[in-house]
Amino acid sequence: MSEFDVAIVGAGMVGASLACGLIDAGFNVALIESGELNSSQDWPLGQVDARVSALSLASENLLKNLQAWPIIENMARLQAYDAMHVWDACGTGKLHFTAAEQHLPYLGHIAENRTITSALHQLLEHKKYHLFEQAQVVDMSPEEVAPRTLTLGSGEQITATIVVGADGANSKVRQLAGLPTREWDYPHHALITRVKVTKSHQNAAWQRFTEDGILAFLPLLSAAEEGLDQHYCSIVWSQPKAQAQAMQQLPESDFCMALTGAFEGRLGDVIASDKRHVIPLRQRHAKRYVQNGLVLVGDAAHTIHPLAGQGVNLGLLDVSALVDTLQQAHQQGCDIASIGVLEKYQSQRRNDNLRMMALMESFSRLFGNQHPMLSLLRNTGMNWVQKLNPIKQHLAQQAMGVGAHLPPLSQAPKQ
Ligand SMILES: Cc1cc2nc3c(=O)[nH]c(=O)nc-3n(C[C@H](O)[C@H](O)[C@H](O)COP(=O)(O)OP(=O)(O)OC[C@H]3O[C@@H](n4cnc5c(N)ncnc54)[C@H](O)[C@@H]3O)c2cc1C
Repeated sequence: MSEFDVAIVGAGMVGASLACGLIDAGFNVALIESGELNSSQDWPLGQVDARVSALSLASENLLKNLQAWPIIENMARLQAYDAMHVWDACGTGKLHFTAAEQHLPYLGHIAENRTITSALHQLLEHKKYHLFEQAQVVDMSPEEVAPRTLTLGSGEQITATIVVGADGANSKVRQLAGLPTREWDYPHHALITRVKVTKSHQNAAWQRFTEDGILAFLPLLSAAEEGLDQHYCSIVWSQPKAQAQAMQQLPESDFCMALTGAFEGRLGDVIASDKRHVIPLRQRHAKRYVQNGLVLVGDAAHTIHPLAGQGVNLGLLDVSALVDTLQQAHQQGCDIASIGVLEKYQSQRRNDNLRMMALMESFSRLFGNQHPMLSLLRNTGMNWVQKLNPIKQHLAQQAMGVGAHLPPLSQAPKQ
């Protein structure tokens, strides 16, 4: 039976970043992934992952500190955005955030999820750790004591001082540990795809709140086709399940027409769409992230409405906080698996995540309600925030992940 300092279950964006951070910090790491790690970057420019993330500056810092950012940049598929336009379809409320107001060159980047995982998986190829690939965790020793023993589908067993659940929203580790969650379905499903539009997105992210849900257009790289610049966006359209499914089934030309209308033609006509995917939206938050010798990170600990594009950004902040906590405990000669140490990580991250989730929840409720008084209130509120610089500044800093005290890996790398 192998024994490790840390066994990380899940090699998605969060688990793979954590593995890089902990290996770099000198821990003996096992990484267990039910799928395969994929460092391939051999995608034709026209083929885009339907799942993209709006990466905050804090996430960019983490990826820079782990040395993954240059690999992502080299793939030449990153799109910086320097403005965000939000407006209410049922009134006059609008909000505009710009990088210039923040004295920054950009607010963040849009990246395909697979570019992030592939860069991290490529980094891992050159590190000393133990990979269990195509290996599903099916069981865990029941006692809340370290070390823990994980059982894989093959019957193989792995023992580690700390087990980390980075295994996504339906975390098996969370279930095996019996860590309870607060969770509920949103009344919406998200339709996601890439679309081609006739006007430039102006390097801006756009969000329209409608009576049925929220429609976001995120800027993607333009592509030169037949000598002309073609403009692409990734869309996230949250709407009632039946409506999302009906939109998924529409012939492409009808879908493009409906989408152009729903977006008020702000970027001209939508003239083409890739395959459309519909994803159910569920809010989920673990009541505790830690036990003796066990920790949850990323979507295993919290899944959040995608309206502010914060899910993986919160997960990557979990990564920085956990690496920092374990590194400090190790340097001070403390038992890294003890609940006292792990609760330091929990108290750093749980309140932060809760605040962001509460903010998204209130937005979702405020905009999901058609009562005329609420409509008036939110339109007035939006215009009020637009004029009140300190509140607007605070909201922008939250979204960029730069307002709060950040763990070292999420801070800008020292030159
Ligand atoms: C429509 C939509 C749009 C979004 N847009 C944004 C955005 O703009 N910005 C943003 O920050 N976030 C966004 N998010 C959220 C973001 O995608 C997630 O927060 C992020 O993917 C979570 O990463 P993760 O590594 O925690 O989990 P996952 O990506 O789910 O990775 C979990 C890994 O664990 C593995 N695994 C699972 N079970 C086991 C097991 N038993 N044994 C071994 N391995 C296992 C899986 O194979 C997988 O590789 C969006 C989400 C949605 C639905």
